[in-house]
Amino acid sequence: MVSSEPEKLEALREEVRAFLRENLPQKWGTPAYEPLEAGSEEQIALSKSFTKKLYDAGYTAFGIPAAYGGIERPPQEIAVIREELRRQGTPFPFVGLGRLVVDTLLQWGTEEQKKRFIPPILRGEVYWIEGFSEPNAGSDLAGVQTTAVRDGDEWIINGQKCWTSGWDYGEWGFFLCRTDVNAPRHRNLSFFLFDCSTPGFSRRPLRQMTGEAHAQYGELFFDDMRVPHENMIGEEGRGWYVAMTTLIAERGGGQVSAASGETGGMGLGLFGARTIGGVDSLIELAKKTKHYGQTAWDDSSFRGRIAQIAIENEAMRAYGMRLGKMIMSGSASGNEASMAKLTWTEQGKRRGDMVCEIIGAYSQLMRGDSRAVDGGDLVYGMLMTRGTTIFMGTSEICRNILAERILGLPRQ
Ligand SMILES: Cc1cc2nc3c(=O)[nH]c(=O)nc-3n(C[C@H](O)[C@H](O)[C@H](O)COP(=O)(O)OP(=O)(O)OC[C@H]3O[C@@H](n4cnc5c(N)ncnc54)[C@H](O)[C@@H]3O)c2cc1C
Repeated sequence: MVSSEPEKLEALREEVRAFLRENLPQKWGTPAYEPLEAGSEEQIALSKSFTKKLYDAGYTAFGIPAAYGGIERPPQEIAVIREELRRQGTPFPFVGLGRLVVDTLLQWGTEEQKKRFIPPILRGEVYWIEGFSEPNAGSDLAGVQTTAVRDGDEWIINGQKCWTSGWDYGEWGFFLCRTDVNAPRHRNLSFFLFDCSTPGFSRRPLRQMTGEAHAQYGELFFDDMRVPHENMIGEEGRGWYVAMTTLIAERGGGQVSAASGETGGMGLGLFGARTIGGVDSLIELAKKTKHYGQTAWDDSSFRGRIAQIAIENEAMRAYGMRLGKMIMSGSASGNEASMAKLTWTEQGKRRGDMVCEIIGAYSQLMRGDSRAVDGGDLVYGMLMTRGTTIFMGTSEICRNILAERILGLPRQ
């Protein structure tokens, strides 16, 4: 009979382990695991069903009020669950960019909007896309040109968005656009949610440096698309402030999820890749890869760099825990989130570079080449890390924020 607190927690640990044994794909976490193609129907379906199972088992959606579908558990139980998910390199729940919608709605949504949109996101039922960037407005997000003109209870949207992650499997999206062309900068924008099946909406893929033209990033077009007024989040003309909440959640999110243990490796997409880049897998790779007659692990310079990454990971984990609390309580500013984003993405890039140094000339072989190490996933991962230092605000923009707002340096 389970009676004491430690026994209860151990029973929960066993329960989570059994759940993962039963529900993670076969060979998950081993080199023999065959990743599904990122963005393929099979990958999306598996990701959704796994997220639903995690939710039904009570292993996700912590920190969100139960009234909106959040799961409330004692902190010790949450810690045990996250430890076990992390141990198995369990993929990040399929909530994806919907997580940003949750944080944005918690701060700015009406009661009705929160009840309508948050629960299906937590259950992994709806995939969301982000329509912020435009061909002439990336770092300068306040310069978006997409317009919305009111017509009764609806808004008519015209414009283009680009670099949209998950462009083709998005079922709902959010975007920032101009609702008042005469109002001053930052006070002329509004924030909307839209259903991707709305007439007047279309999309197409962009080619990326990994060679894929379809997989992950695309462009969105709004051509007289009508969106109901009830889908506006926050007040008309105050969309910039709503978008800042979204960006804080986004920039801080990578670090928070790394800290919470809900993500595996470099976060290359649910079941879309083997989990790579964690310290254990770096050590394993260094130990099995020979350089001039010795393994990379025998080389103290590699050992030192891997140790540095392990130390940084611990610091990032602690910072992520703090940041997570700040985001949930609404006290995080763009400064902390920018610091987090800069740290985890720049470190990711260094990890990717080191992986390629370890495998040496094999880093020239991509997915599809039978001699590529780990089926080319390592090189693919390295290339993907490049984009992380551009999306959500480039490293230069994050450094500007830190320089001006934390260090008090003069604006260039
Ligand atoms: C992998 C990936 C996924 C993405 N996903 C999405 C998405 O889902 N939704 C979305 O809306 N957008 C997305 N983006 C777009 C991303 O947010 C923009 O690419 C980013 O904000 C930079 O904008 P830009 O590409 O227009 O570059 P620009 O803003 O034109 O910048 C070009 C260069 O100039 C530098 N620069 C610009 N301004 C300054 C300044 N003031 N000081 C110093 N340097 C400066 C930048 O750092 C960069 O090096 C994604 C991008 C990538 C690469």
